[in-house]
Amino acid sequence: LSTENSKITDTTADLKSALTFKKDGAPFCTRFNDIYFDTESGYQQSDDIFICGNNIKQRFIEAKSTVTIAETGFGTGLNFLLTLQAYQKAKSECSHDLAPMHFVSVEKYPLNKEQLSQSLKALPELAPYATLLTEQYLSEKNTTKEQVFEASFLNNKVRLTVIFDDASQGLKQLSVAKKPKDNSKLTCDLVDIWYLDGFSPAKNPDMWSAELFQQIARLSQEQASLTTFTVAGFVKRALQDIGFRLEKLPSKGKKKEILRGTFHRVNPNKGYQHRPKITKPQHVSIIGGGIASACIAYKLATQGVKITLYCKDDAIAQGGSSNAIGALYPLLHQSQDDISSFYQAAFWRAKHFYNDIYQQGFQFDHQWCGLLELSYKDSLTQRQNKFEQLAAWPKELIQSVNASQATEIAGIPLQYGGLFMPNAGWAAPQQLVQQVLKAAQETGRLKIKTNTHIKKIAPMTHSAASNKEVKWQLTSNKGNFNASILIICGGAEVIDLDYIKSLPLSATRGQVTSMQSNEMISPLKSVLCHKGYLTPKNNNIHCIGATFQKNDTNTQASSSDDQYNLAMLNKCLPDLAEHINWQEHDISSSKARLRCMSQDHMPLVGAMPDISAHIETYAHLAKDKNWRYTEPAPVESNLYMALGLGARGLCSAPLAADIIAADICNTPYPVNSEMLFNLSPNRFIIRDIIKRKL
Ligand code: SAM
Repeated sequence: LSTENSKITDTTADLKSALTFKKDGAPFCTRFNDIYFDTESGYQQSDDIFICGNNIKQRFIEAKSTVTIAETGFGTGLNFLLTLQAYQKAKSECSHDLAPMHFVSVEKYPLNKEQLSQSLKALPELAPYATLLTEQYLSEKNTTKEQVFEASFLNNKVRLTVIFDDASQGLKQLSVAKKPKDNSKLTCDLVDIWYLDGFSPAKNPDMWSAELFQQIARLSQEQASLTTFTVAGFVKRALQDIGFRLEKLPSKGKKKEILRGTFHRVNPNKGYQHRPKITKPQHVSIIGGGIASACIAYKLATQGVKITLYCKDDAIAQGGSSNAIGALYPLLHQSQDDISSFYQAAFWRAKHFYNDIYQQGFQFDHQWCGLLELSYKDSLTQRQNKFEQLAAWPKELIQSVNASQATEIAGIPLQYGGLFMPNAGWAAPQQLVQQVLKAAQETGRLKIKTNTHIKKIAPMTHSAASNKEVKWQLTSNKGNFNASILIICGGAEVIDLDYIKSLPLSATRGQVTSMQSNEMISPLKSVLCHKGYLTPKNNNIHCIGATFQKNDTNTQASSSDDQYNLAMLNKCLPDLAEHINWQEHDISSSKARLRCMSQDHMPLVGAMPDISAHIETYAHLAKDKNWRYTEPAPVESNLYMALGLGARGLCSAPLAADIIAADICNTPYPVNSEMLFNLSPNRFIIRDIIKRKL
């Protein structure tokens, strides 16, 4: 940490390390005219920037293998001690054994043992940890003799390596090996987390060198995070050049803003996986009034972007988001394949986001009451057994239960056990969309235009565009509008729109039936899934669903579909259906809407590809799928989408929104590069070229 305005009041400087102490005990470096940390706020500030900024405690809890943290500038060891403390806290908060931690730091001007002890006296909060460090630390003689200091803590769960060298030279000595063949001290795994904590770049520019950034790129794990106190322009540019996506975060301490970044290692030979970079715009237009549009509008509005949202209906959330009750749960397969990994990430993201909206006071009906996928036939019992054997998923996500456990969970008699998702539940989607948009509107940056059906989109000709920023012209029943950046959501309603119609999207009709509660089903307290589903009551109504009619775009509800939903419940769970004894007159209402389906059950999130340019550019993939292309994917400029969310928009919309917002604001992506390509709208074209379908 650094401060630009330090005053030395004590002149007993140690010339070797250039260390002195200010009156309040703050260690000060005369060589760089900067403090190591501030006595009053140093603990809090470092905790804020490095520990909270990198979400350290949670990452220790979730890590499956060694967490490697690298720091530039070991200094007094404050950041290391804070990290050790976070490790200890994580350990005391969770029931499983934590994965080990390896902390690597580089230090050109090491303090000796006495100086370290003296400096750390200013931080009584860390006293027990400071003792652990100083007990093992090197004496003055050895700090000048040794090139590396190694120590271990907490029963060898934490390993510390400090390389006494210039930052870039020290990092250069590190070799990356998963399994070190020799006992070389200078081996580490790829780095998961970076703390950049040299003295301020203005006072110590040599440290923030091009070589340093090269080393950071070499040693970073995909999605490695990084925080630093400096927001200096050249540091930002250097980090972006090596593949970090950055965001500024507000900080409570003396530094008003700090920098956080995430590293993305896109394969340079697979140009088509590169997502286009744009400059963060002032204004964005969104087509659609459902959950995807709402989440994107909120994300962008809270990042300072103005939005106009076009909704074809007279009110928002009239399409797929209009059902009375929607289940929120991830789609999980037995193994952690691409689809399950996406829905797992999306599920936690959605829960976090909706809880946040609710806690801000934008309330909507919901219950995170758990969801049971009942094993009502042999093949499903086998599937349940497989889940149990493979144990690929954590119990808080999915666990196997028998019939009596299921009965207890559901609060009604059940004949079958199944797979239980304790964190899943239901929400009222229409209210949810309204509340998310209300939250977005409170920023003062969202304008909603209802009754505005965008029927045509076309790029502006150069002469028509009075303003160079304006890229798209939208034609609607309410006249023409211009858009600088256009994001198409709108689900199945937009699949015939220009550009979008060339993508492999289809509409599938689904009817949901609302049933009056009765005393038999009223106690139901978790969502039940069979071939269809049955929800707990909200306002005395349960939802059962849903039909699945491909390429049927009729949205008139039909009584035969209500019968189908009731029959499906009867067929899959006959004992329960008999117990409830619903009759036709218990149907309260029904609704048929369209799901927007993609070919591979994953949404399309990202830029609209220029399809013919793709075919031309990547033609050789048909002959050799490993052909090296460095050219980035050709796209229709400033045209984005979040489509193909199927029946799972409640789950996938918040993560899709985070990705689109990162595309547009140039901020860190919440998922890795591989998953980004699995969601990218151009994936179908690349796959088809490889399969020689194009
Ligand atoms: N992280 C430290 C802590 O927790 O106490 C504080 C670091 S202090 C703000 C900056 C550190 O960077 C100092 O210890 C300084 O000696 C070190 N440093 C300065 N230039 C360096 C360089 N070129 N290579 C490595 N370390 C350097």
